[in-house]
Amino acid sequence: MTEQSRKEPASGYGSLFLVSAPSGAGKSSLVNALLAQMPDIALSISTTTRAPRPGEVNGREYHFSTVEDFLAARDRNEFLEWAEVHGNYYGTSRKWIEDRMLAGGDVLLEIDWQGARQVRKHFPEAVSIFILPPSIQALEDRLHKRGQDSETTITKRLLGAGAEMAHASEFNYVIINRVFEDALKEFSAIVTASRLRFDKQAARCRDVFIQLGIPG
Ligand code: GDP
Ligand code: ADP
Ligand code: 5GP
Repeated sequence: MTEQSRKEPASGYGSLFLVSAPSGAGKSSLVNALLAQMPDIALSISTTTRAPRPGEVNGREYHFSTVEDFLAARDRNEFLEWAEVHGNYYGTSRKWIEDRMLAGGDVLLEIDWQGARQVRKHFPEAVSIFILPPSIQALEDRLHKRGQDSETTITKRLLGAGAEMAHASEFNYVIINRVFEDALKEFSAIVTASRLRFDKQAARCRDVFIQLGIPG
């Protein structure tokens, strides 16, 4: 992970959402379902050295990379944050995030707790959400049901789940993904409330505030 001293650009009315969860908790399903409802939120596509799962497309789920290329990009300081998770490298493009935040739009990052910690240093106002499974058994069942990882990979991810969940308290919000539709409603409520914060609304709807004489 990189230690940066300089501050990132101010975010304007855009909100930055950080979503973490142990593998199999339903993070990607919830994020995809939320983005289908709120298409104006931009999802950051991470770079990873893990192999694509069946059906994953380069540039859609991830930018798939060799370890050599990843480390070279890291050394060029191209990642806002990076981490090693389950034996693979993952990183978030610094330029893409900076451009989006400067443009004022909402951005969502699906990253692990180590990455979330790094991003909070640059964007202290980031809204962070941790997704929990209702039980370890449910996590195991979902990883098997998803059917995209080998037994070895599933075991590795289950063994890592406790360590990931030990960092849940560093997040602003927690969703327990028991019934998918309920969890989605809760996720949507968090995002909507964050967008309605006074400072975000005042920046987004500046003309209304001026017309009504509301001091910022
Ligand atoms: P998943 O856990 O089943 O979604 O499997 P993935 O291989 O897609 O992701 C493994 C872990 O890496 C998850 O905890 C992700 O949140 C995390 N991750 C994905 N992209 C990034 C990234 O750009 N930075 C960091 N720090 N973590 C990431
Ligand atoms: P993650 O991105 O956190 O690894 P996924 O979104 O890939 O997790 O979900 C893992 C599996 O669990 C998928 O097969 C998904 O369809 C399933 N799943 C997600 N949420 C629920 C839920 N509430 N109940 C049952 N299965 C779920
Ligand atoms: P994915 O392939 O990402 O796991 O899921 C595809 C879509 O199926 C998601 O966007 C979500 O809307 C839906 N989905 C995933 N898991 C569940 C689930 O357990 N229950 C329901 N009702 N829908 C789900």
